[in-house]
Amino acid sequence: MPARNRRLPRHLSWPLTPTDLREALGARELEAVDLYFGEHPASDGHLLSVLWSPRPSSSYSFGGTRPPWWSHVRIGVGPVPATERAVTRHALQQDALPELAAWITAARRAPEAWTLSRHTRHWHVEDGAVTRCDEGLPPG
Ligand SMILES: [Zn+2]
Repeated sequence: MPARNRRLPRHLSWPLTPTDLREALGARELEAVDLYFGEHPASDGHLLSVLWSPRPSSSYSFGGTRPPWWSHVRIGVGPVPATERAVTRHALQQDALPELAAWITAARRAPEAWTLSRHTRHWHVEDGAVTRCDEGLPPG
């Protein structure tokens, strides 16, 4: 679970909360991803990103019986100006979270060849409209 106890400067705010992501992805999936709340706006304007990496993140090291896909998926949320939080949150909830959930579901089922390289998708919001970018092939 995220280190969300860090403080942001007053003028910045995260547009999504862990609860928003839990509602979009389901509790079990949220447990299996590596969720990261950035403290600085991304220079390229990404507000929400998802990364598939071929090797599980080292931030989980339970060993034992974790599923083989455990924490291959990292979700990042970046801050926005607090004055834009409401409109950004609405846009992401409408358009980005369903895509995020579908992307992860497809990634879990992707052919092995796909899982062996890095893939990311990220979302921007401008004037309340969501756009997305892919690096690498989207799953499925
Ligand atoms: Zn982009």
